[in-house]
Amino acid sequence: MRFVLASNNQKKKGEMSAILQGLGIEVLSMEEAGVHTQPEEDGDTFEENALIKARAACKASGLPALADDSGLAVDALGGAPGIHSARYCPGSDWDRLQFLLHNMKDIPREKRSARFVSAVACVFPDGTERVWRGECPGLVLEEPQGQGGFGYDPVFYLPEYQMTFAQMPGEEKNKISHRARAMAQCAAGLAEEMKGKEEEKK
Ligand code: IMP
Repeated sequence: MRFVLASNNQKKKGEMSAILQGLGIEVLSMEEAGVHTQPEEDGDTFEENALIKARAACKASGLPALADDSGLAVDALGGAPGIHSARYCPGSDWDRLQFLLHNMKDIPREKRSARFVSAVACVFPDGTERVWRGECPGLVLEEPQGQGGFGYDPVFYLPEYQMTFAQMPGEEKNKISHRARAMAQCAAGLAEEMKGKEEEKK
């Protein structure tokens, strides 16, 4: 069965394909499916924004569609930057990381808890909608540490591993990340969903 992923990010596509291959699902990018959508992500939650993207891709392609939305939620900032993580301030990822550190400059270490969140949504042409959420808890350091990863990774510290996401090997991050956790639930949920749809056909 073919699914379209509401993203042209090859890295995300690779990650999702690897997880869903075992279910007999082939993941196409929007380009491969011959569609282009860029709906306004005006939802109030990660889940709503993932659904908005998946609905648009499903409508445009006629295929079941997957989409994800993710970000960093800092407890002491009331969940900011949250759904605004990619646009927290103008400039680069590095500018946004510095802006976050500036906004947290008076917050002591014990109150710097945060979580990365990922919502993965799936919308089928028959209107069925599903959404799964994965979270990865940690804390925001006062200074960046490590060269790997992207976005807020250099300040996101995992006490259990005693390192930031930017210091962790990519394969390791991909096993425990918010996206990996949401995708694992998505794979289990889709297996159930597809079994149900097969049975309906009989
Ligand atoms: P999107 O879901 O691809 O739109 O990503 C939203 C934004 O959240 C990214 O631009 C990053 O700023 C941040 N983000 C999401 N996941 C990660 C991650 O694994 N590491 C670092 N930053 C992330």
